[in-house]
Amino acid sequence: MPARIAINGYGTIGKRVADAVALQGDMHVVGVVKARPDFEAKLAARKSYALYAASEHALRKFEKAGVKASGVLEDVLKEADLVVDCTPEESGYKKLYEKAGVKAIWQGGEEHALTNLSFNAAVNYAECLGATFVRVPSCNTTGLIRTLYPLDAGLGVERALAVMVRRATDPGDSKKGPINAIEPELEMPSHHGPDVQTVLPQLDIHTIALKVPTTLMHVHAVSVDLKKAADEERIAELWKRQPRIAFVEGGEGVKSTAQIMEMARDLSRNRSDLYEVAVWRDGVHVVDGKRLYYFQAVHQESDVVPENVDAIRALLELEKEGRRSMEKTDRSLGIGLAG
Ligand code: NAD
Repeated sequence: MPARIAINGYGTIGKRVADAVALQGDMHVVGVVKARPDFEAKLAARKSYALYAASEHALRKFEKAGVKASGVLEDVLKEADLVVDCTPEESGYKKLYEKAGVKAIWQGGEEHALTNLSFNAAVNYAECLGATFVRVPSCNTTGLIRTLYPLDAGLGVERALAVMVRRATDPGDSKKGPINAIEPELEMPSHHGPDVQTVLPQLDIHTIALKVPTTLMHVHAVSVDLKKAADEERIAELWKRQPRIAFVEGGEGVKSTAQIMEMARDLSRNRSDLYEVAVWRDGVHVVDGKRLYYFQAVHQESDVVPENVDAIRALLELEKEGRRSMEKTDRSLGIGLAG
């Protein structure tokens, strides 16, 4: 019988995780939970997901708006083996999940301390097998881990510095900014470096972040001191073995995140998502054999989606080997076809 998965919080991440789970043969969506009976709730019902209200108070709002709900969060938890929590950070559902006896996966808005286990399929699937609670780190952290882990495993990373140029908000949001300014994050290091270390504790990484007025993607400019010398070909070879890294070429007209997202639209995937981290092939430069520079772009709305699917398999032990889980997930989402 397929594993029964509930999605609590059906926004940017939740609706994508729900659709990705629905594509798998070994799991299915038993219900999605919304706090408000808005257009996303109505579309979820139209897609035939069983819709639940976050609380009794929310349920009354659903009834008033004429949106049919199958019950409240506690009801769907009774039907589920695992809940993927995609609510805004610090929603505080851990005790409820413990009481209901369900396993849970949280997103990067939560602190590592909530689960003491942060997940990346390529790095620590085996360590997370059978765990009760896990957290999938943020979109930026996942993007950095995707490229730094193969470098560290293949050549050794002496130290890394990543300058993170962050999107202001997601395309569907009109509340946040900046809309005409560049906002440096004055905390040093930015939280991303320590967050990478929740999955790669030995990695010497420092991060600096700035927020800019764009909604499409984040871009990282990364400088890495390698332990072993390598040239651009060797670096590309290491990354090509990773389906969740897609190469793009400035020389082929991919000059910016605008063309990367155009490419994603041309791939005709669900919501035009780009699950892979995109690396500019002709932006990879090695100086003096051991100093590597590269640029990568992260589609913040979707790169964590395949990681959530693999985390479900790890926690419920649906697949013992991370590599096999990743293959299943990648095949279902068309990952590996981008570049
Ligand atoms: P979102 O605001 O788009 O969606 C959150 C959803 O949860 C909405 O449907 C909202 O109605 C619902 N909700 C709000 N309060 C709730 C409650 N108390 N109970 C149940 N549902 C509730 O948020 P998002 O961008 O999808 O972020 C969710 C999590 O994913 C956060 O931890 C965030 O940091 C993380 N994340 C976001 C992105 C991104 O770029 N958007 C990327 C990676 C990780």
